[in-house]
Amino acid sequence: MIDSYKHRGLRRKMLESLVELGIRNERVLNALYQVPRHLFIDSALEPHAYAVKAFPIGAGQTISSPLTVAFQTDMLQLKPGDKVLEIGTGSGYQTAVLSALGAAVYSIERQKELFVKAKRLLEQLSVKTNYLTYGDGFEGLPKLAPFDKILITAGSKEAPKKLLQQLKIGGIMIIPLGDQTQKMWSIKKESDREFTKQQLGAGYRFVPMLKKKH
Ligand code: SAH
Repeated sequence: MIDSYKHRGLRRKMLESLVELGIRNERVLNALYQVPRHLFIDSALEPHAYAVKAFPIGAGQTISSPLTVAFQTDMLQLKPGDKVLEIGTGSGYQTAVLSALGAAVYSIERQKELFVKAKRLLEQLSVKTNYLTYGDGFEGLPKLAPFDKILITAGSKEAPKKLLQQLKIGGIMIIPLGDQTQKMWSIKKESDREFTKQQLGAGYRFVPMLKKKH
């Protein structure tokens, strides 16, 4: 669990790359500076932890590229204290970034192995883990709804209806929609039945959002 001077230097370089790639939100950049990304990646890949790339995290899944994490986080327009539902805890990296921004993060992961590993690591990093859930993201967390923001970190063909229901009026969902490749969309809940959709980017390759194994 070492976060050295060298790691922090590499993080600064990563942030410079992100700025060049168009990320300008200082709060988001600062949150990425605070989270030691190398601890969320297999130690064999540690030398590359601060490259602007996605990596395998086991169980056929990936930790998203820092650019995708920064972009999705920026698009959430977080305010401190926002109640955020994340679908796809994966490594827990995005969860830690949202927490560093002062959000109350509720995150769901469908793969037990990843859930257990992410929970342990986040606890070690003193990130609040009360609301990490092993379950099916398609169901959301109806008892804990509504959420100010919902972030989907797996590719989906359409926005899951139950999750749209669990969004607050005025709230935003950021979701990569598509099959093999995805376009990033922001969906705003205008009223119980009205949503406005805005495309934010294209050409993403997320692992698919799948029903929970039983
Ligand atoms: N946010 C993660 C990205 C992980 S990739 C990170 O920063 O590391 C997407 C994750 O979504 C995978 O771990 C995958 O197992 C999970 N996933 C896929 N379908 C899901 C579902 N229905 N419910 C919850 N998690 C799901």
